[in-house]
Amino acid sequence: MDLQLAGRRLLITGASSGIGLATARLLAEEGARLALCARDEDRLRTATADLGARTDVVTASCDVTSRASVDAFVATAVDRLGGLDGVVCNAGRSLMRSLDETTDEEIRDEFDLKIFGALHVIRATRTALAASDRGAVVIVNAILSRQPETRLAVTSAARAGLLNLSSSLAEELAADGTRVNSVLLGLIDTGQWQRRFAESGADDFAAWSAEIADDRGIALGRFGSADELAFPIATLLSPRNSYTTGATLEVGGGVHRYV
Ligand code: NDP
Repeated sequence: MDLQLAGRRLLITGASSGIGLATARLLAEEGARLALCARDEDRLRTATADLGARTDVVTASCDVTSRASVDAFVATAVDRLGGLDGVVCNAGRSLMRSLDETTDEEIRDEFDLKIFGALHVIRATRTALAASDRGAVVIVNAILSRQPETRLAVTSAARAGLLNLSSSLAEELAADGTRVNSVLLGLIDTGQWQRRFAESGADDFAAWSAEIADDRGIALGRFGSADELAFPIATLLSPRNSYTTGATLEVGGGVHRYV
């Protein structure tokens, strides 16, 4: 099946690692032209160095919590790619702490990252996406947005806000012909979890993560991989998926306790 992504001009935030990087790789294989950002530009360039041989790739340092930084990145992307057809709001991380352990400033930072990290990008790209024949936004969010967890209290609240925002944006941007959909993740083996594994003192990632998967009630009994997220994201970006908007796609390995 041809997803008709060849030549599409797509922007991904948080593309130096994990889900963003895996998505960039898949889209490059499909022949899409890419604008990629992360805060650490050296790490981004190193991680994506091989993609330039396949397709046009624009890389830039950008902090999605800064409107000015996002505006500058988007302006460069639109200029270099000649417009935009799709955006993946992916940059971020989770704050794993109970409310008791979290300062007010950390709470504000978390809301800033989750809400403005997507909103700045959508505002900055709106005109370019409206000019596309089939503009699409994919917001990378988490199942936590519907099922909060105690040690992820602030992240869960911010994610719920982002999910509601996505539904509102899907209605508002429909007037431009732009679709807005969310992918809700379960537990995915990326930089975030590798950092937690390193801090845990455990020595076998497979056993450590299988125990967490079991504890969380993941039917498939394991974490997902970043590659397993790249395909659902690509299908939501595809112009062939032209009647899907305001939707949420759960990719969580069958987390049955959320049913
Ligand atoms: P990684 O840590 O592997 O990658 C995160 C990426 O985001 C990096 O490229 C990082 O680069 C970038 N980034 C972080 N903060 C910013 C910022 N302020 N501005 C621009 N770029 C930023 O994480 P994942 O691939 O796991 O995470 C991708 C998304 O999925 C995140 O939003 C995460 O919260 C979400 N998610 C992940 C889950 C999981 O289990 N892995 C579960 C639920 C949601 P740099 O640090 O250089 O900026």
